[in-house]
Amino acid sequence: MYNPKSKNAEEFICHEEVLASLEYAEKNKNNLDVVNKILEKARLKKGLTHREAAVLLDCDIPEKVEEIYELAREIKQEYYGNRIVLFAPLYLSNYCVNGCVYCPYHHINKHIPRVKLTQEQIRRETEALQDMGHKRIAIEAGEDPVNNPIEYILDSIKTIYSVKHKNGSIRRVNVNIAATTVENYKKLHDAGIGTYILFQETYNKETYEKLHPTGPKHNYKYHTEAMDRAMEAGIDDVSLGVLFGLELYRYEFSALLMHAEHLEAAYGVGPHAISVPRIKKADDIDPSAFDNGIDDDTFAKITACIRIAVPYSGMIISTRESAECRERLLKLGVSQISGGSKTSVGGYFNPAPEDENSAQFDVSDRRPLDDVIKWLMELGYLPSFCTSCYRQGRTGDRFMEICKSQQIHNFCQPNAVMTLKEYLEDYASDATKAVGEKLLPSEIAKIKDSSIRTKVEENLVKICNGERDFKF
Ligand code: SF4
Ligand code: SF4
Repeated sequence: MYNPKSKNAEEFICHEEVLASLEYAEKNKNNLDVVNKILEKARLKKGLTHREAAVLLDCDIPEKVEEIYELAREIKQEYYGNRIVLFAPLYLSNYCVNGCVYCPYHHINKHIPRVKLTQEQIRRETEALQDMGHKRIAIEAGEDPVNNPIEYILDSIKTIYSVKHKNGSIRRVNVNIAATTVENYKKLHDAGIGTYILFQETYNKETYEKLHPTGPKHNYKYHTEAMDRAMEAGIDDVSLGVLFGLELYRYEFSALLMHAEHLEAAYGVGPHAISVPRIKKADDIDPSAFDNGIDDDTFAKITACIRIAVPYSGMIISTRESAECRERLLKLGVSQISGGSKTSVGGYFNPAPEDENSAQFDVSDRRPLDDVIKWLMELGYLPSFCTSCYRQGRTGDRFMEICKSQQIHNFCQPNAVMTLKEYLEDYASDATKAVGEKLLPSEIAKIKDSSIRTKVEENLVKICNGERDFKF
């Protein structure tokens, strides 16, 4: 029985409800009355239910599809403006006891080099990331209670936060590790993490169990209820995602939105962010074995419909996708991207070609961060290294309240300007700096509150004089 308030995975991601939603969408996808009513509600920019969003996703009336894209662009602009937040993944260890058939870190893969960074190596990786200009990272590690116990993860977070190299610092560590206990989530919370990230991979239980034949991750219920345990432990910024391509995308789309509805219904806090990864080539996996790949157009439509359905959640796209694809999705709702990423363990400090063998997936956008920053600015975006919200106590329902009332922009814009200025001073190439310096005055002018604008201008002078880390 479907119940978004329930804390039982099989009730809040109810298989029958997903199937009924897909049937409803199939029946109504080209019914103009129904589609127009849903679009009318969507124009209020307060979100849609999973059923309503499923109808829009299925709709193939060309002019309605164009309206969907237009609305996604508008919502993106109203909630997030043109700022795009940058981050990078940091792979700590690829030891893993799970058997996920789509991931090269699965324990049966014998020809991938297994690497676990020491704290000294993590320090070097952190310095390398700081030298690129990054301030926000997502740590990643396989599930392995012997090699990667929670103590290792906690030590690593401590190390990362402690490194202050030249003018650099990592100010927000997001964590992407396997589903764990409330007790361990409490430890992560106390370590000062930003967001807890866990991809569901697929919401279809039967498919999930097939794709995770061995290891603790086989347990669908434990994995799907991970965010509930994280919330219980006090982590109120959580990030969802599915690996598109494992199961039929329509199923995943509805279930993902049901998960967002569940978090909102049960805890009053929807997902802080939603990632939209697609399955990619990697060592010892064969993506053609997954018959559910999605083309670029469908991928764009999924992104637009998520943007419309949950306007208050950030959307993340990684370097799995090409520059062209990222450019398209940025317009439709993506608010955060990775840049200059290495998906191998130790790949920042030691980017030797053989290291690529330990990569979790093929990176499509291989440009250095500086190129990505320049590219964003030339496209009219404002790159941001802001990490302010959780450091200022704006998390969970407090964050959601500000975001839903479309006020977050008042924080994002000044913080983006100041952190971009830091980047231009400390890390940008001459060409990027020239583009950035030209952009800044118009972005400062967009700050509506004159007292904040004045403060930002004062802080920019201080940044030129060597001071760092201003935030609202
Ligand atoms: Fe391990 Fe995660 Fe890869 Fe699965 S997806 S094999 S849990 S690293
Ligand atoms: Fe993100 Fe908050 Fe910074 Fe805006 S102000 S970019 S929401 S951390």
